[in-house]
Amino acid sequence: MSCIFCRIAEGDMDADVVSSDDHVIVIRDIDPKAPTHLLVLPRRHVASIDEAADDGELVARVMRVARDAARAEGLDDGYRLVTNVGEHGGQTVPHLHVHVLGGRHLGWPPG
Ligand code: 5GP
Ligand code: ZN
Repeated sequence: MSCIFCRIAEGDMDADVVSSDDHVIVIRDIDPKAPTHLLVLPRRHVASIDEAADDGELVARVMRVARDAARAEGLDDGYRLVTNVGEHGGQTVPHLHVHVLGGRHLGWPPG
C-alpha cells in the first residue's frame, strides 16, 4: 500500500490523530500553514473530490467531521475548508482530504 493516507488510516504510519470514527479520520498536518491545520480524510481510498462528489454520504460525513473538528479546536472567529484537486489545484497527496485552517486571518485569494 503506497498511499500515505491509506497507511495512516490503517495505522501503519504514525500521525497526530485528532479524532477518528469508522469512516473518517482527522489528523494534524505535518507542515501546518496556520495555527490550526487539520486534514480530514475518509478511511476508504478515493483520489479526490472530483471522484467522490457523487457519493453524497461520504461528502456529508467528511464535511460534518470537518465542521465538528473546527468547533472542537475553538475556531469561533472562522476557518477555511479547502480540498485541492490535481496538479493545478495543488494536490500533492492523491487521497481525498479536506484541510481545516484557522487560528489567524487567512488572506484571499490564495496564491
Ligand atoms: P495537498 O497538497 O494534497 O492538498 O495536501 C497534502 C497535505 O498533507 C500537505 O499540507 C502536507 O503538509 C500534508 N502531509 C504530507 N505528508 C504528510 C504526512 O505524512 N503526515 C501528515 N500528518 N501530513 C502530511
Ligand atoms: Zn489512499
